Amino acid sequence: MTNPICPYCKFPVPIKGALVRHFGTHVAHTEDECFRLLHAEIARLRAENERLQRDVLRYRWLREFVTRPDDVAMMFDELGFSGDATPEGFDRAVDAAMAGEPNASNQPAP
Ligand SMILES: [Zn+2]
Repeated sequence: MTNPICPYCKFPVPIKGALVRHFGTHVAHTEDECFRLLHAEIARLRAENERLQRDVLRYRWLREFVTRPDDVAMMFDELGFSGDATPEGFDRAVDAAMAGEPNASNQPAP
């Protein structure tokens, strides 16, 4: 059996508990619980949006930087992309280059 959906915040409602209100045939969270769930979702979405915005900026920067296939090898040299060959290392190299630090290390900060 799936839990009912709260008509106010649209999150699942536990079957029983102190954070549940009963209205005849339907249930909902308490007002405080709805606010807590919605604020947590807003914080999660803001963090995800910030992470995605960084990826968007990286993509746009690379799109401007790489104009020909031959430029990819040069780009890797320019970015100092020889140490940490992971997606995170690549992100650090792009971040450093975007900040005007060409050939900056893409190794994690100590
Ligand atoms: Zn709710």
